[in-house]
Amino acid sequence: MQDLTAQDILAVWEAGQDQHPVDRALTVLEHGFPDLTRERSARLPLGQRDRLLLVLRAQVFGDVMTAAAGCPKCGEQLEIPIAVSEVSGQPAAVSGQPAAFSLRSGKYAVRFRLPDSRDQAAAAVSPDPTAAHRALLERCIISVRHGKQEVRPSRLPEATVTALAGRMEELDPLAELTFDLTCPQCGNQWEEVLDPAGFFWAELAMEAQRLLSEVHTLAQAYGWREQDILALSARRRQQYLGLAGS
Ligand SMILES: [Zn+2]
Repeated sequence: MQDLTAQDILAVWEAGQDQHPVDRALTVLEHGFPDLTRERSARLPLGQRDRLLLVLRAQVFGDVMTAAAGCPKCGEQLEIPIAVSEVSGQPAAVSGQPAAFSLRSGKYAVRFRLPDSRDQAAAAVSPDPTAAHRALLERCIISVRHGKQEVRPSRLPEATVTALAGRMEELDPLAELTFDLTCPQCGNQWEEVLDPAGFFWAELAMEAQRLLSEVHTLAQAYGWREQDILALSARRRQQYLGLAGS
């Protein structure tokens, strides 16, 4: 892993502007983990991909992420501090390349692999979240047998699909990062899902805007070129911004 420089952050932001969120996550990883090819990142189980994003995020912006959530009942806005070291420390049951796993549920025997970014991108085409989730799971099914009969994944009963989703979650726990929240105003309790890739992207986009505004101010004040301003350490940039009266 390498730290993201100011130039990296602007390059990631520029490349990711027109990309699908799944591709953005891969673009960020490409810059933070140059040894990991885009193809290999795309094949990482989602929780493993998100673990890398979280670790990189902690390096760029620090360990604590402050997520925001609105109470679904009364609309109260909550701030949720999340320590990356705590969530990314959850042990993954598998690591490395996706392998095949087995599940027996009732009379069904399912062989499957864990969902990765390619599956996530393909499933995201469906506008209905429930259908998208089912499509994601079905894409990862290698084979299904009912007794001696081969069965199509689309014919799996809901109970087996639920069991399969549960097994995938055990094997790749970071794939869905959930938090139990209680509203301090009305006492309502609910579960909030955090999308680490989307959260990190939003932070990078804000940081890019801030950097561009610094370049704008310093270029106006001193006539320096963009690449020279970005090559300065953040501390020096702040000092010059102060001197320039910004
Ligand atoms: Zn509330």
